[in-house]
Amino acid sequence: EVLPQLPQGVTLKPSDYKGIKPVWCPGCGDYAILNALVQVLARNRVDPSKLAIVSGIGCSGRFPAFVKSYGFHGVHGRVLPVATGLKLARPDLTVLAVGGDGDGLAIGMGHLPHAVRRNVDLTYLLFDNHIYGLTKGQPSPTTEVGHKTHASPFGVAEYPLNPLALALIAGATFVGRGFSSHTKHLADLIEQAIRHRGFSFVQIMTPCVTFNDMYKVWKEQAYEIGPDHDTSDFQAALHLATAAEGLPIGIFYQAEKPTYLDRLIAGVKESERLKEARRYDDEADAAGL
Ligand code: SF4
Ligand code: MG
Repeated sequence: EVLPQLPQGVTLKPSDYKGIKPVWCPGCGDYAILNALVQVLARNRVDPSKLAIVSGIGCSGRFPAFVKSYGFHGVHGRVLPVATGLKLARPDLTVLAVGGDGDGLAIGMGHLPHAVRRNVDLTYLLFDNHIYGLTKGQPSPTTEVGHKTHASPFGVAEYPLNPLALALIAGATFVGRGFSSHTKHLADLIEQAIRHRGFSFVQIMTPCVTFNDMYKVWKEQAYEIGPDHDTSDFQAALHLATAAEGLPIGIFYQAEKPTYLDRLIAGVKESERLKEARRYDDEADAAGL
């Protein structure tokens, strides 16, 4: 989509887009996501009055307060229905949905495939730290097998979900992964996700330094997807998303498809056209033609 810009002559610095001071733990990956986003907003001269950030519950749920834009801190797991409703009611706004792995993949999981298949033009940033941070470290649907927490003293016994593969299978038209410690790369990825017309799903690896510090592991595994990957190739994207080795970051898949709103409008026009055709038909019948 086209990002709504500030009036001519008005510019804002990245720091101008920051709201109240974040209360995240020192070293939390979420700071880097905030920095990446405000960079994107400043360099595109985004009008904050045309931007809305919707969040779920969790450490990432506080995000709307930390950015100067409209914001809605919703209830647990409901970020996607709220964001969808907002975008449909106000298509002129750029809508970002943010939420964690617990929020989006556990209680909110039922919403993910349906929001994805509607292809509403919004961007969903999934802050994935493989843990419930705000409630002090319970395992989430992406926590590694065997990870010990106070809520899983013998180690997590479930296998983790693969959010990228899920989004791909559900039909997302933009699927990407970023890593908070590759901040410039992350900013470029977020920008492309916002510019994409349709539902953009971005998994952001962001270490929870307090309850499940994956920083070193991800730092070692992360590599940027090279130009040889064809982002229009669905099978290649799925292959990359399910790769056993390493942590590829970048755009996995991108496709152009009519959005939910495009289809609604096309449907209304078609039904009006049919009504009109029926009226002519009735008039012709009445005239005995
Ligand atoms: Fe970040 Fe974890 Fe602290 Fe939450 S608990 S602010 S996710 S480091
Ligand atoms: Mg989490």
